[in-house]
Amino acid sequence: MLIVKKFGGSSVRDKERIMNVARRCEKDYRAGNRVVVVLSAMGDTTDDLIAKAHDINPNAPKREMDMLLSIGEQESVALMAMALNSLGVPAISLNAFQVGMHTTSAYSAARFKRVDTDRLVHELDAGKVVIVTGFQGVNKYDDVTTLGRGGSDTTAVALAATLHADKCEIFTDVDGVYTADPRIVKNARKLKEISYDEMLEMATLGAQVLHNRSVEMAKKYGVTLVVRSSLNESEGTLVREVNNVEKMLVSGVACDKNAARIALIGVKNEPGVAFKIFDELSRKNINVDMILQSVGRDDTKDISFTVDQEEAKNAVEVLKENRERLTIQKIEDEVNVAKLSVVGAGMQSNSGVATKMFEALYDVGVNIRMISTSEIRITVLIDLEDTDRAMRAVHDKFLPDED
Ligand code: ADP
Ligand code: ASP
Ligand code: MG
Repeated sequence: MLIVKKFGGSSVRDKERIMNVARRCEKDYRAGNRVVVVLSAMGDTTDDLIAKAHDINPNAPKREMDMLLSIGEQESVALMAMALNSLGVPAISLNAFQVGMHTTSAYSAARFKRVDTDRLVHELDAGKVVIVTGFQGVNKYDDVTTLGRGGSDTTAVALAATLHADKCEIFTDVDGVYTADPRIVKNARKLKEISYDEMLEMATLGAQVLHNRSVEMAKKYGVTLVVRSSLNESEGTLVREVNNVEKMLVSGVACDKNAARIALIGVKNEPGVAFKIFDELSRKNINVDMILQSVGRDDTKDISFTVDQEEAKNAVEVLKENRERLTIQKIEDEVNVAKLSVVGAGMQSNSGVATKMFEALYDVGVNIRMISTSEIRITVLIDLEDTDRAMRAVHDKFLPDED
Protein backbone atom coordinates (compact mmCIF):
# COMPACT_ATOMS: atom_id res chain seq x y z
CA MET A 1 0.00 0.00 0.00
CA LEU A 2 1.20 3.55 -0.70
CA ILE A 3 0.41 5.93 2.14
CA VAL A 4 0.79 9.71 2.22
CA LYS A 5 0.93 11.05 5.77
CA LYS A 6 0.94 14.77 6.49
CA PHE A 7 1.82 16.23 9.89
CA GLY A 8 1.13 19.85 10.81
CA GLY A 9 3.35 22.26 12.73
CA SER A 10 2.15 21.36 16.22
CA SER A 11 2.74 17.66 15.49
CA VAL A 12 6.47 18.31 14.90
CA ARG A 13 6.99 21.25 17.22
CA ASP A 14 9.84 19.71 19.30
CA LYS A 15 12.09 16.68 19.62
CA GLU A 16 9.47 14.54 21.42
CA ARG A 17 6.83 15.25 18.79
CA ILE A 18 9.29 14.59 15.96
CA MET A 19 10.19 11.22 17.47
CA ASN A 20 6.48 10.47 17.94
CA VAL A 21 5.86 11.12 14.23
CA ALA A 22 8.93 9.12 13.25
CA ARG A 23 7.63 6.12 15.22
CA ARG A 24 4.20 6.37 13.59
CA CYS A 25 5.85 6.38 10.17
CA GLU A 26 8.16 3.53 11.17
CA LYS A 27 5.14 1.39 12.02
CA ASP A 28 3.65 1.78 8.54
CA TYR A 29 7.03 1.23 6.91
CA ARG A 30 7.75 -1.96 8.85
CA ALA A 31 4.29 -3.27 7.94
CA GLY A 32 5.50 -3.29 4.33
CA ASN A 33 3.99 -0.06 3.02
CA ARG A 34 5.51 2.60 0.80
CA VAL A 35 5.42 5.76 2.89
CA VAL A 36 5.54 9.40 1.79
CA VAL A 37 5.54 11.95 4.60
CA VAL A 38 4.67 15.63 4.18
CA LEU A 39 5.64 18.04 6.94
CA SER A 40 4.88 21.61 7.95
CA ALA A 41 7.37 23.85 9.69
CA MET A 42 7.94 23.17 13.39
CA GLY A 43 5.52 24.89 15.79
CA ASP A 44 5.36 28.64 15.23
CA THR A 45 8.34 28.75 12.87
CA THR A 46 6.39 30.28 9.97
CA ASP A 47 4.91 33.01 12.19
CA ASP A 48 8.36 33.74 13.61
CA LEU A 49 9.86 34.04 10.14
CA ILE A 50 7.10 36.42 9.07
CA ALA A 51 7.72 38.56 12.16
CA LYS A 52 11.43 38.63 11.41
CA ALA A 53 10.78 39.78 7.84
CA HIS A 54 8.31 42.49 8.89
CA ASP A 55 10.78 43.77 11.40
CA ILE A 56 13.23 44.46 8.59
CA ASN A 57 10.74 45.47 5.91
CA PRO A 58 6.96 45.56 6.43
CA ASN A 59 6.50 45.61 2.64
CA ALA A 60 8.94 42.82 1.84
CA PRO A 61 8.81 41.58 -1.78
CA LYS A 62 6.67 38.46 -2.00
CA ARG A 63 9.40 36.54 -3.78
CA GLU A 64 11.74 37.04 -0.86
CA MET A 65 9.01 36.18 1.63
CA ASP A 66 8.58 32.81 -0.08
CA MET A 67 12.31 32.28 -0.15
CA LEU A 68 12.36 32.89 3.60
CA LEU A 69 9.24 30.95 4.63
CA SER A 70 10.26 27.85 2.70
CA ILE A 71 13.15 27.24 5.08
CA GLY A 72 10.77 26.26 7.90
CA GLU A 73 9.62 23.13 6.08
CA GLN A 74 13.15 22.33 5.02
CA GLU A 75 14.22 22.24 8.65
CA SER A 76 11.49 19.82 9.69
CA VAL A 77 11.97 17.34 6.83
CA ALA A 78 15.72 17.10 7.41
CA LEU A 79 15.21 16.51 11.13
CA MET A 80 12.56 13.89 10.41
CA ALA A 81 14.89 12.02 8.06
CA MET A 82 17.50 12.03 10.86
CA ALA A 83 14.89 10.80 13.36
CA LEU A 84 13.87 7.89 11.13
CA ASN A 85 17.50 7.13 10.48
CA SER A 86 18.07 6.91 14.25
CA LEU A 87 15.32 4.26 14.35
CA GLY A 88 17.05 2.28 11.63
CA VAL A 89 14.56 3.24 8.92
CA PRO A 90 16.07 4.34 5.60
CA ALA A 91 14.68 7.79 4.83
CA ILE A 92 15.39 10.76 2.62
CA SER A 93 14.15 14.35 2.77
CA LEU A 94 13.33 16.25 -0.42
CA ASN A 95 12.29 19.85 -0.97
CA ALA A 96 9.89 21.00 -3.67
CA PHE A 97 12.70 21.70 -6.09
CA GLN A 98 14.18 18.22 -5.68
CA VAL A 99 10.82 16.50 -6.15
CA GLY A 100 9.74 18.77 -8.93
CA MET A 101 6.56 20.25 -7.47
CA HIS A 102 5.75 22.79 -10.16
CA THR A 103 3.44 25.69 -9.41
CA THR A 104 2.16 28.89 -10.96
CA SER A 105 4.41 31.85 -10.35
CA ALA A 106 2.14 33.70 -7.88
CA TYR A 107 4.36 34.11 -4.83
CA SER A 108 2.56 33.45 -1.53
CA ALA A 109 -0.49 32.05 -3.33
CA ALA A 110 0.91 29.56 -5.84
CA ARG A 111 -1.11 26.66 -7.23
CA PHE A 112 0.22 23.29 -8.30
CA LYS A 113 0.46 22.71 -12.03
CA ARG A 114 2.37 19.44 -12.16
CA VAL A 115 4.24 17.12 -9.81
CA ASP A 116 7.12 15.01 -11.12
CA THR A 117 7.28 11.42 -9.92
CA ASP A 118 10.69 10.16 -11.11
CA ARG A 119 12.68 11.05 -8.03
CA LEU A 120 9.90 10.08 -5.62
CA VAL A 121 9.37 6.68 -7.22
CA HIS A 122 13.10 6.10 -7.45
CA GLU A 123 13.53 6.67 -3.70
CA LEU A 124 10.47 4.61 -2.82
CA ASP A 125 11.76 1.78 -5.02
CA ALA A 126 15.04 1.99 -3.12
CA GLY A 127 13.06 1.17 0.03
CA LYS A 128 13.17 4.60 1.62
CA VAL A 129 10.58 6.61 3.45
CA VAL A 130 10.38 9.85 1.47
CA ILE A 131 9.83 13.05 3.44
CA VAL A 132 8.68 16.05 1.43
CA THR A 133 8.47 19.72 2.41
CA GLY A 134 4.87 20.91 2.57
CA PHE A 135 3.65 24.38 1.59
CA GLN A 136 6.26 25.07 -1.10
CA GLY A 137 6.70 24.73 -4.83
CA VAL A 138 8.88 25.92 -7.65
CA ASN A 139 7.77 28.17 -10.51
CA LYS A 140 8.87 28.47 -14.14
CA TYR A 141 11.68 30.84 -13.14
CA ASP A 142 13.08 28.15 -10.82
CA ASP A 143 12.10 30.32 -7.86
CA VAL A 144 10.63 29.02 -4.63
CA THR A 145 6.91 29.69 -4.19
CA THR A 146 4.55 29.03 -1.30
CA LEU A 147 0.93 27.96 -1.43
CA GLY A 148 -0.58 30.26 1.22
CA ARG A 149 -0.93 29.68 4.96
CA GLY A 150 -1.90 26.12 5.80
CA GLY A 151 -0.77 24.95 2.37
CA SER A 152 0.98 21.76 3.47
CA ASP A 153 -2.34 19.94 3.34
CA THR A 154 -2.46 20.73 -0.37
CA THR A 155 1.05 19.35 -0.88
CA ALA A 156 -0.11 16.07 0.67
CA VAL A 157 -3.17 15.83 -1.55
CA ALA A 158 -1.16 16.73 -4.66
CA LEU A 159 1.27 13.91 -3.89
CA ALA A 160 -1.52 11.45 -3.06
CA ALA A 161 -3.28 12.26 -6.33
CA THR A 162 -0.12 12.08 -8.44
CA LEU A 163 1.14 8.86 -6.89
CA HIS A 164 -2.34 7.29 -6.78
CA ALA A 165 -1.87 6.70 -3.08
CA ASP A 166 -4.12 4.21 -1.32
CA LYS A 167 -4.46 6.45 1.71
CA CYS A 168 -3.96 10.15 2.49
CA GLU A 169 -3.89 10.94 6.18
CA ILE A 170 -3.79 14.49 7.55
CA PHE A 171 -2.52 14.43 11.13
CA THR A 172 -3.16 17.44 13.30
CA ASP A 173 -3.67 18.52 16.92
CA VAL A 174 -7.39 17.71 17.10
CA ASP A 175 -9.11 14.33 16.63
CA GLY A 176 -10.77 15.20 13.32
CA VAL A 177 -13.17 17.66 11.77
CA TYR A 178 -15.67 18.96 14.31
CA THR A 179 -19.02 20.71 13.96
CA ALA A 180 -17.16 23.88 15.01
CA ASP A 181 -13.66 24.79 16.16
CA PRO A 182 -13.43 22.68 19.35
CA ARG A 183 -11.23 25.33 20.92
CA ILE A 184 -14.06 27.87 20.79
CA VAL A 185 -17.15 25.66 21.03
CA LYS A 186 -16.46 23.17 23.81
CA ASN A 187 -19.42 20.91 22.99
CA ALA A 188 -18.60 20.70 19.27
CA ARG A 189 -18.86 17.12 17.98
CA LYS A 190 -16.45 15.15 15.88
CA LEU A 191 -17.88 14.22 12.49
CA LYS A 192 -17.43 10.64 11.25
CA GLU A 193 -17.46 11.90 7.70
CA ILE A 194 -18.09 15.07 5.75
CA SER A 195 -18.59 15.65 2.02
CA TYR A 196 -16.02 17.48 -0.09
CA ASP A 197 -18.45 20.32 -0.77
CA GLU A 198 -19.26 20.90 2.88
CA MET A 199 -15.62 20.63 3.90
CA LEU A 200 -14.64 23.04 1.15
CA GLU A 201 -17.14 25.60 2.43
CA MET A 202 -16.02 25.09 6.04
CA ALA A 203 -12.35 25.46 5.09
CA THR A 204 -12.97 28.51 2.93
CA LEU A 205 -15.06 30.10 5.67
CA GLY A 206 -12.40 29.86 8.32
CA ALA A 207 -12.15 26.29 9.67
CA GLN A 208 -8.38 26.09 9.25
CA VAL A 209 -8.24 22.36 9.99
CA LEU A 210 -7.77 21.84 6.22
CA HIS A 211 -6.40 24.20 3.57
CA ASN A 212 -9.33 24.88 1.26
CA ARG A 213 -7.36 24.10 -1.89
CA SER A 214 -6.48 20.68 -0.52
CA VAL A 215 -10.19 19.88 -0.37
CA GLU A 216 -10.76 21.27 -3.85
CA MET A 217 -7.98 19.07 -5.18
CA ALA A 218 -9.10 16.01 -3.22
CA LYS A 219 -12.53 16.35 -4.77
CA LYS A 220 -11.16 16.83 -8.27
CA TYR A 221 -8.98 13.72 -8.10
CA GLY A 222 -11.23 11.64 -5.85
CA VAL A 223 -8.72 11.41 -3.00
CA THR A 224 -10.37 10.34 0.25
CA LEU A 225 -8.86 12.25 3.16
CA VAL A 226 -8.61 11.10 6.75
CA VAL A 227 -8.18 13.91 9.28
CA ARG A 228 -6.91 12.60 12.60
CA SER A 229 -4.76 13.31 15.62
CA SER A 230 -1.02 12.71 15.64
CA LEU A 231 -1.21 12.14 19.40
CA ASN A 232 -3.72 9.29 19.66
CA GLU A 233 -5.19 6.43 17.66
CA SER A 234 -8.70 7.88 17.44
CA GLU A 235 -10.37 7.16 14.09
CA GLY A 236 -10.66 10.69 12.76
CA THR A 237 -12.95 12.09 10.08
CA LEU A 238 -13.32 10.95 6.48
CA VAL A 239 -13.60 13.65 3.85
CA ARG A 240 -15.12 12.16 0.71
CA GLU A 241 -18.15 12.11 -1.57
CA VAL A 242 -21.10 11.50 0.73
CA ASN A 243 -24.39 10.50 -0.80
CA ASN A 244 -26.65 10.16 2.21
CA VAL A 245 -30.26 10.59 1.29
CA GLU A 246 -30.75 12.27 4.65
CA LYS A 247 -28.22 15.03 4.49
CA MET A 248 -27.51 16.84 7.72
CA LEU A 249 -29.28 20.17 7.75
CA VAL A 250 -26.21 21.81 9.21
CA SER A 251 -22.92 19.97 9.47
CA GLY A 252 -20.88 22.77 10.94
CA VAL A 253 -20.30 26.35 11.98
CA ALA A 254 -17.17 28.24 10.95
CA CYS A 255 -15.80 31.69 11.60
CA ASP A 256 -13.23 33.80 9.82
CA LYS A 257 -11.64 36.55 11.86
CA ASN A 258 -9.46 37.65 8.98
CA ALA A 259 -12.12 39.83 7.32
CA ALA A 260 -12.20 43.56 6.70
CA ARG A 261 -15.15 45.65 5.57
CA ILE A 262 -14.86 48.51 3.13
CA ALA A 263 -17.75 50.91 2.55
CA LEU A 264 -18.00 53.26 -0.40
CA ILE A 265 -20.42 56.04 0.43
CA GLY A 266 -22.25 58.25 -2.03
CA VAL A 267 -21.47 56.47 -5.27
CA LYS A 268 -23.37 57.72 -8.34
CA ASN A 269 -26.51 55.68 -8.95
CA GLU A 270 -25.98 54.89 -12.62
CA PRO A 271 -25.17 51.83 -14.76
CA GLY A 272 -21.56 50.66 -14.84
CA VAL A 273 -20.39 52.04 -11.52
CA ALA A 274 -20.24 48.69 -9.72
CA PHE A 275 -18.48 47.18 -12.73
CA LYS A 276 -15.81 49.89 -12.73
CA ILE A 277 -15.20 49.61 -9.00
CA PHE A 278 -14.84 45.84 -8.89
CA ASP A 279 -12.93 45.75 -12.16
CA GLU A 280 -10.36 48.09 -10.63
CA LEU A 281 -10.01 45.77 -7.64
CA SER A 282 -9.78 42.58 -9.67
CA ARG A 283 -7.06 44.09 -11.84
CA LYS A 284 -5.03 44.38 -8.67
CA ASN A 285 -5.85 40.76 -7.79
CA ILE A 286 -7.88 41.81 -4.77
CA ASN A 287 -10.49 39.20 -3.96
CA VAL A 288 -13.84 40.58 -2.92
CA ASP A 289 -16.24 38.48 -0.92
CA MET A 290 -19.58 39.69 0.48
CA ILE A 291 -21.11 42.65 -1.36
CA LEU A 292 -23.98 44.84 -0.22
CA GLN A 293 -25.51 47.73 -2.10
CA SER A 294 -27.98 50.10 -0.52
CA VAL A 295 -29.77 53.25 -1.54
CA GLY A 296 -28.07 56.42 -0.39
CA ARG A 297 -29.13 60.04 -0.29
CA ASP A 298 -30.07 62.03 -3.41
CA ASP A 299 -29.03 60.19 -6.53
CA THR A 300 -26.38 58.05 -4.86
CA LYS A 301 -25.92 54.56 -3.51
CA ASP A 302 -23.58 52.99 -0.95
CA ILE A 303 -21.61 49.85 -1.74
CA SER A 304 -19.90 47.83 0.97
CA PHE A 305 -17.90 44.66 0.62
CA THR A 306 -15.44 42.47 2.49
CA VAL A 307 -11.86 41.49 1.68
CA ASP A 308 -9.17 39.61 3.59
CA GLN A 309 -7.53 41.86 6.17
CA GLU A 310 -4.15 41.82 4.47
CA GLU A 311 -5.78 43.12 1.26
CA ALA A 312 -7.69 45.97 2.93
CA LYS A 313 -4.94 48.58 2.80
CA ASN A 314 -4.26 47.83 -0.81
CA ALA A 315 -7.94 47.96 -1.73
CA VAL A 316 -8.44 51.35 -0.06
CA GLU A 317 -5.38 52.74 -1.83
CA VAL A 318 -6.56 51.57 -5.24
CA LEU A 319 -9.99 53.06 -4.67
CA LYS A 320 -8.58 56.36 -3.37
CA GLU A 321 -6.39 56.71 -6.44
CA ASN A 322 -9.45 56.31 -8.66
CA ARG A 323 -11.95 58.04 -6.41
CA GLU A 324 -13.15 60.69 -8.84
CA ARG A 325 -13.52 58.41 -11.81
CA LEU A 326 -15.43 55.92 -9.65
CA THR A 327 -17.61 58.73 -8.24
CA ILE A 328 -16.95 57.74 -4.61
CA GLN A 329 -17.62 60.48 -2.04
CA LYS A 330 -16.23 58.72 1.01
CA ILE A 331 -14.33 55.51 1.77
CA GLU A 332 -14.56 53.80 5.16
CA ASP A 333 -12.75 50.67 6.23
CA GLU A 334 -12.74 48.60 9.38
CA VAL A 335 -11.02 45.40 10.43
CA ASN A 336 -12.92 44.64 13.63
CA VAL A 337 -15.37 42.36 11.87
CA ALA A 338 -15.67 38.61 11.39
CA LYS A 339 -17.61 36.27 9.16
CA LEU A 340 -19.74 33.61 10.79
CA SER A 341 -21.18 30.82 8.66
CA VAL A 342 -23.35 27.76 8.95
CA VAL A 343 -22.71 25.03 6.39
CA GLY A 344 -24.89 22.08 5.48
CA ALA A 345 -25.81 20.16 2.35
CA GLY A 346 -29.32 19.69 3.72
CA MET A 347 -30.07 23.40 3.39
CA GLN A 348 -30.81 22.93 -0.28
CA SER A 349 -34.09 21.25 0.55
CA ASN A 350 -35.02 23.04 3.76
CA SER A 351 -36.34 26.50 4.28
CA GLY A 352 -36.03 28.48 7.48
CA VAL A 353 -32.33 27.90 8.07
CA ALA A 354 -31.51 31.59 7.73
CA THR A 355 -34.33 32.53 10.10
CA LYS A 356 -33.04 30.08 12.67
CA MET A 357 -29.54 31.52 12.43
CA PHE A 358 -30.81 35.10 12.76
CA GLU A 359 -32.90 34.04 15.77
CA ALA A 360 -29.83 32.54 17.47
CA LEU A 361 -27.98 35.83 16.98
CA TYR A 362 -30.96 37.85 18.19
CA ASP A 363 -31.13 35.68 21.33
CA VAL A 364 -27.62 36.79 22.29
CA GLY A 365 -27.98 40.37 21.04
CA VAL A 366 -25.53 40.15 18.15
CA ASN A 367 -26.02 42.63 15.33
CA ILE A 368 -25.77 41.45 11.72
CA ARG A 369 -23.84 43.77 9.42
CA MET A 370 -24.07 41.89 6.11
CA ILE A 371 -25.54 38.64 4.86
CA SER A 372 -24.64 36.33 1.99
CA THR A 373 -25.80 32.84 1.06
CA SER A 374 -25.04 29.96 -1.26
CA GLU A 375 -26.87 26.67 -1.76
CA ILE A 376 -25.18 25.10 1.22
CA ARG A 377 -24.20 27.97 3.49
CA ILE A 378 -25.32 31.18 5.14
CA THR A 379 -22.73 33.76 6.14
CA VAL A 380 -23.18 36.86 8.25
CA LEU A 381 -20.72 39.63 8.99
CA ILE A 382 -20.64 40.59 12.66
CA ASP A 383 -18.46 42.60 15.04
CA LEU A 384 -15.23 40.83 15.89
CA GLU A 385 -15.84 41.06 19.64
CA ASP A 386 -19.10 39.10 19.25
CA THR A 387 -17.61 36.19 17.32
CA ASP A 388 -17.04 33.53 19.94
CA ARG A 389 -20.35 33.87 21.74
CA ALA A 390 -22.21 34.19 18.43
CA MET A 391 -20.53 31.00 17.26
CA ARG A 392 -21.58 29.14 20.41
CA ALA A 393 -25.16 30.42 20.16
CA VAL A 394 -25.52 29.43 16.51
CA HIS A 395 -23.91 26.04 17.17
CA ASP A 396 -26.27 25.36 20.09
CA LYS A 397 -29.27 26.31 17.98
CA PHE A 398 -28.49 23.93 15.12
CA LEU A 399 -26.47 21.25 16.86
CA PRO A 400 -27.74 21.07 20.44
CA ASP A 401 -26.22 18.54 22.83
CA GLU A 402 -27.64 15.06 22.39
CA ASP A 403 -29.02 13.52 25.60
P1 ADP B 1 -1.86 21.87 11.56
O1 ADP B 1 -0.72 22.64 12.12
O2 ADP B 1 -1.87 20.44 11.98
O3 ADP B 1 -2.01 22.04 10.08
P2 ADP B 1 -4.00 23.78 12.00
O4 ADP B 1 -3.78 24.73 13.13
O5 ADP B 1 -3.77 24.28 10.63
O6 ADP B 1 -3.15 22.46 12.28
O7 ADP B 1 -5.48 23.20 12.06
C1 ADP B 1 -5.95 22.57 13.22
C2 ADP B 1 -6.79 23.55 14.04
O8 ADP B 1 -7.96 23.89 13.32
C3 ADP B 1 -7.32 22.99 15.33
O9 ADP B 1 -6.39 23.14 16.36
C4 ADP B 1 -8.61 23.76 15.56
O10 ADP B 1 -8.47 24.75 16.55
C5 ADP B 1 -8.89 24.43 14.23
N1 ADP B 1 -10.25 24.22 13.73
C6 ADP B 1 -11.06 25.20 13.26
N2 ADP B 1 -12.24 24.71 12.90
C7 ADP B 1 -12.20 23.38 13.12
C8 ADP B 1 -13.14 22.32 12.94
N3 ADP B 1 -14.36 22.52 12.45
N4 ADP B 1 -12.75 21.06 13.29
C9 ADP B 1 -11.53 20.84 13.79
N5 ADP B 1 -10.60 21.80 13.98
C10 ADP B 1 -10.92 23.06 13.67
N1 ASP C 1 4.03 26.26 7.66
C1 ASP C 1 2.97 26.81 6.85
C2 ASP C 1 2.06 27.69 7.69
O1 ASP C 1 2.28 27.84 8.88
C3 ASP C 1 2.22 25.76 6.11
C4 ASP C 1 1.37 24.83 6.93
O2 ASP C 1 1.43 24.81 8.16
O3 ASP C 1 0.58 24.08 6.32
O4 ASP C 1 1.13 28.26 7.17
MG1 MG D 1 -2.89 23.53 8.88
